Amino acid sequence: MVTDPVCETDVNPNDTEVQSEKEGEMYYFCSIDCREKFEMNPEQYIS
Ligand SMILES: [Zn+2]
Repeated sequence: MVTDPVCETDVNPNDTEVQSEKEGEMYYFCSIDCREKFEMNPEQYIS
């Protein structure tokens, strides 16, 4: 499991197609809404 960086829900990477790659890292999301928030302001979620 990985953690959705936006809402901090556990996400199974094998189970979601909602993903985004930033700076060589893959991020997975519970929903398209979370991905949109991430895409608008990735620096806020990448620590
Ligand atoms: Zn989420």
